[in-house]
Amino acid sequence: MSKKILLPQPIESEALLMLEEAGIEIVSSPDPSPETVRPFLAGVHGIVLRTGIKITRELLSHADNLQIVSRTGGGLDNVDVDAATERGVVVTSNLGVNTSSVVEHVLAFMLALSKQLPLMDREVRKSNFAIRYQSLPGDVRGKTLGVIGFGRIGSELGRLCHQTFGMKVLAFDPFLPEEVKETYGDWVRFPAIQELCCNSDVISIHVPLTDHTRNMVGERELSWMKPEAILINTSRGSLIDEEALFHALKEKKITGAGLDVFSQEPVPADSPLLDLDNILLTPHSAALTRECVIRMATEAVQCVIDLFSGLEPKNVANRQVLVLEKWKQLSTSSYK
Ligand code: NAD
Repeated sequence: MSKKILLPQPIESEALLMLEEAGIEIVSSPDPSPETVRPFLAGVHGIVLRTGIKITRELLSHADNLQIVSRTGGGLDNVDVDAATERGVVVTSNLGVNTSSVVEHVLAFMLALSKQLPLMDREVRKSNFAIRYQSLPGDVRGKTLGVIGFGRIGSELGRLCHQTFGMKVLAFDPFLPEEVKETYGDWVRFPAIQELCCNSDVISIHVPLTDHTRNMVGERELSWMKPEAILINTSRGSLIDEEALFHALKEKKITGAGLDVFSQEPVPADSPLLDLDNILLTPHSAALTRECVIRMATEAVQCVIDLFSGLEPKNVANRQVLVLEKWKQLSTSSYK
C-alpha cells in the first residue's frame, strides 16, 4: 500500500521531490488551521510539521493510520508528544539543523540594537544627520553576554561572541551535566540566574518552552538587569512575561529588546509591544533563511522516508514507542 503524507503547510520543492521519488502520496492542506487540517487526517501515515498548527490529542484522534509526526524544526511544543506516544506514533524533531541560522539572527539583533540601527536609519531619513552626535551607539567588544540555556544554539552563540568580540560569557543552564560544563574551559562561567542578569550587557534566551520555563524571565529577572542591557529572545515568546517586558522597555529599565518569538503569533495588531521604539521585531523568522528552510524540510522528509523504509529515523523524541511490536524491527544502520 502506498503511503500518504500530510503537509499542513507547504514545504520546499527539494523536499517534495524526495517524497515523490520515494513514491509517497502528498496531501496538502490549503491552510494550517485545525478546522481545515482535521478532515485531511484520516488515512494519512505521516505529517511533516512546521510551526503553523499544534497537533493536539484531539487532532491525533482523527489520524487513524498515523505512524510519524516529523517536525521541520527543533521545538516540540506544537506536538502533544504524550498523546502521540500513547497512540504509538513516532515523533521526530530536527535538532541542530537550524543552529547556525538562529545564531546569526541573534548576532544581527545584538549588533543592530547596540549600533542603534533602527534609530539611525529613521533619523537619517528625516534629514537628522546630527543624530551621529546626539545618540552614541555602543560596542560589544569586551562586553558580557549572558546566555540562558547553553545547548546547541546558546553554546554556539557564546563561542562566537567570545572568539569574535572578546565578550565574556555567563551561562545559566542547571540541566547541563558538570562534565559537559567542564569541556567549555574558562571562557564561560556558570553563575546563578540573578548574577547573570545583574552582570550581562546582552542576554539571550535559548531554552525550550515547558511548564517549567514559561515566563522564566519576568518582572523579577528584568529588575535585576542593567539599564544598558539588551534582551534577545529567539526561542519561544512565552518564556518572557511580555507585560513585564513592555513596562521595563517603556520605563527604560533596560535599553532594548530583540524578539523573534511572541506569546501569541502572529503578534496581535493591538499589542503594546508594537508601540515601543526600543525594540526590534522579526516574525519567528530566525530559522527561515533560504538555506535553512531547505535543510529543515529535507531532513524532516528524510525521517519520514526512513521510517517508511524500515529504518529508525534520526532524533526520535519519544523513543519509548520503539519497543512496540510494529517498530521493533526498525534497522538503525542508516546513520549509526
Ligand atoms: P537545545 O536542546 O540544544 O538546548 C536547550 C538548552 O536549554 C539545554 O542545554 C537545556 O539543558 C537548557 N534548559 C532547559 N531548561 C532550562 C532552564 N529551566 N533553565 C536554563 N536552561 C534550561 O536546544 P537548541 O537547539 O539550542 O534550541 C533552543 C530553543 O530555540 C528551542 O527549544 C526552540 O524553541 C528555539 N528555536 C527557535 C527557532 C526560531 O526560528 N526562532 C529555531 C530553532 C530553535
